[in-house]
Amino acid sequence: WTTEKLLDWMTHSLESHEVDSPRVLAEMLLTEVYGGNRIDLYANAQRVASEDEREQLRSLVARAMKHEPVQYILGKSLFFGHEFSVNQSTLIPRSCTEVLVMQAIEHCKGMTHTPRVADIGTGSGCIGITLAKQLDADITLTDICTDALALAQENAENLGVSESLTLIQGDGLEPLTGTYDVLCSNPPYILSHEMDELAPNVKEWEPALALHGGQDGLEIIRPMLEGAHEFLSENGCILIEVLPSITAEIKALMTSILTLREGVILKDQFGDERFLRAYKS
Ligand code: GLN
Repeated sequence: WTTEKLLDWMTHSLESHEVDSPRVLAEMLLTEVYGGNRIDLYANAQRVASEDEREQLRSLVARAMKHEPVQYILGKSLFFGHEFSVNQSTLIPRSCTEVLVMQAIEHCKGMTHTPRVADIGTGSGCIGITLAKQLDADITLTDICTDALALAQENAENLGVSESLTLIQGDGLEPLTGTYDVLCSNPPYILSHEMDELAPNVKEWEPALALHGGQDGLEIIRPMLEGAHEFLSENGCILIEVLPSITAEIKALMTSILTLREGVILKDQFGDERFLRAYKS
């Protein structure tokens, strides 16, 4: 059982269960057992696995064959170049959400006061914590789920920014106090009838609470937009990740909310219409 043979065996096992990117996944799992970097696997292609290492691998591969996301198996995920702990109480951070973070940074750039930012439904904390790494700002993270907040707290500590953060439990805008220069969120936005059609690694493993946006996918977003003006400072900006397939409905919703102005949909790095941005009227 050399590295070469193990990788082939794992790749075929994962492929036979229709798991995405089987080769890369096999490399990640073997790296987890061996330690070091993925490139080391190729530098030591003839390394022979011990019985104990093979046992560990068998158990990791068995989990991956059930479509458990590799980030849950490894307990970590990269976002904006930072390592976040993840578990099943939160969504796994997605790379498209990094564009939302960049928009928030852009809005805060050049401010003469310390920006106040809220990340609503923070989950792993990836948005707010990344902002704390990039900005000298006063940042509030909220989530309805206490397990998610505990994870966000752990990530804030691991990444050395817990001092600049306030974590509050609560639903939507409800836990906010005062006004903010930026309200940002990657809220649950999958439509009820599309929940069943999600890929198995999402549907069977990620928390429905973090995904499900109600019948029209807007049940969390609508009250956030309607109530935002009360919590936005002058020229304050709201940035929300949305589902590309319902941007027409979102544009119509933004037009109907007179307390917000200049509503636009922005694209992510893959060219999909992924974020709404609007300002306090
Ligand atoms: N803010 C977190 C993220 O972007 C969690 C989002 C969610 O649970 N809907 O990954």
